[in-house]
Amino acid sequence: MNVSVPKETASGERRVALVPEVVERLGRSGIEVTIEAGAGAEAHYPDADYEQAGAKLGDGYSGQVVAKVAPPSAEEIGRLQRGSVLIGFLAPLTAVDTVRGLAEAGVTSFAMEAIPRISRAQSMDALSSQATVAGYRAAQIAAQELPRFFPMLTTAAGTVRPAKVLVLGAGVAGLQAIATTRRLGAIVQAFDVRSAVKEQIESLGARFLELDMGLEDAEAAGGYARPLTDEEQQRQRELLAEEIGKMDAVISTAAVPGRRAPLLVTEQAVKNMSPGSVIVDLAAETGGNCELTEAGETVVKEDVTIIGPVNLASSMPDHASSLYARNVQSLLGLMAGEEGELKLDFDDEVIAGACITRDGQIVHEGARQAAGVTA
Ligand code: NAD
Repeated sequence: MNVSVPKETASGERRVALVPEVVERLGRSGIEVTIEAGAGAEAHYPDADYEQAGAKLGDGYSGQVVAKVAPPSAEEIGRLQRGSVLIGFLAPLTAVDTVRGLAEAGVTSFAMEAIPRISRAQSMDALSSQATVAGYRAAQIAAQELPRFFPMLTTAAGTVRPAKVLVLGAGVAGLQAIATTRRLGAIVQAFDVRSAVKEQIESLGARFLELDMGLEDAEAAGGYARPLTDEEQQRQRELLAEEIGKMDAVISTAAVPGRRAPLLVTEQAVKNMSPGSVIVDLAAETGGNCELTEAGETVVKEDVTIIGPVNLASSMPDHASSLYARNVQSLLGLMAGEEGELKLDFDDEVIAGACITRDGQIVHEGARQAAGVTA
């Protein structure tokens, strides 16, 4: 099969879908790569490195398979050939126009977000690889913006107490934020509605924040959280407001797939924080975990700095791209026959589960519902 990789055009997108190291490995399994000139430049992968790894420079949309990072724009969909295969983040539950456009263009599309989170598909899990980058970065931003030290210091000028950090949501990004803030020496607490993560939080040297919510466990299918009821959410916000007041920094990562992020940090909670405190809201893109977050902005309210980063993974484009490329490589491996030829097995649960559009139709159940397609 031949795979082409275009230069990403979405604003602020610095990642690239394949990196030279992966191009070389694909070549060994009979998969040829064509890369658009400059596609890797913002992630610090020069064209010459791709050529040395065996890629050709050329049209990023001409391959049997097109590998991308960000969801395609209407213009990019227009460049895809009918019958071609597209791999990338497609936001299938929210980007309704994109999904409709791909179906109409006759593209067989696979969303990285829709790859089933089963053990066999772990190496393809781009949500996890990119959330790892985002969680790490969020911890650094919190440390950078806080006008205080993270670690405890004993100096000739006296002792500095360590910062207290609360991480809300202990999924992949949250756990990485916990690990990174711990390494920087902060005292870290974390909360999640899935009780299964308590042990993971503790194994990273943080404390699980016990909230008396009367909640047994909110784990739903696929290991994700279920949405809380209005009463549960209200209770959570009230209990958290008090705890947040004791923190120097809050890193919030709580999410429920396909929905607005749960609102966890109220204006009152922000008021309860001491002057100079920091909130890094990783859920900014999906509405924010904090009431005062503005996506893509840094705002100061009540002398608390509230940062709402978008596409944080793209701010570390080298490693974010290299991990993403390995995810794509694994998926391509599943799409290839023995000679590296394109061979899509729709009986395979990973291939079937990740497929969003095929033969002019939206075939993914969640995407069909989002697009209002009836049976
Ligand atoms: P996510 O980004 O959807 O959500 C982030 C976190 O927010 C989750 O831990 C969720 O429980 C939490 N959350 C939701 N509502 C909340 C609320 N009201 N208050 C506090 N926290 C709230 O999740 P994710 O990081 O993509 O993954 C979640 C889980 O999926 C993992 O921890 C794991 O169990 C599973 N997973 C499985 C695999 C695999 O087997 N291949 C890979 C990755 C993740």
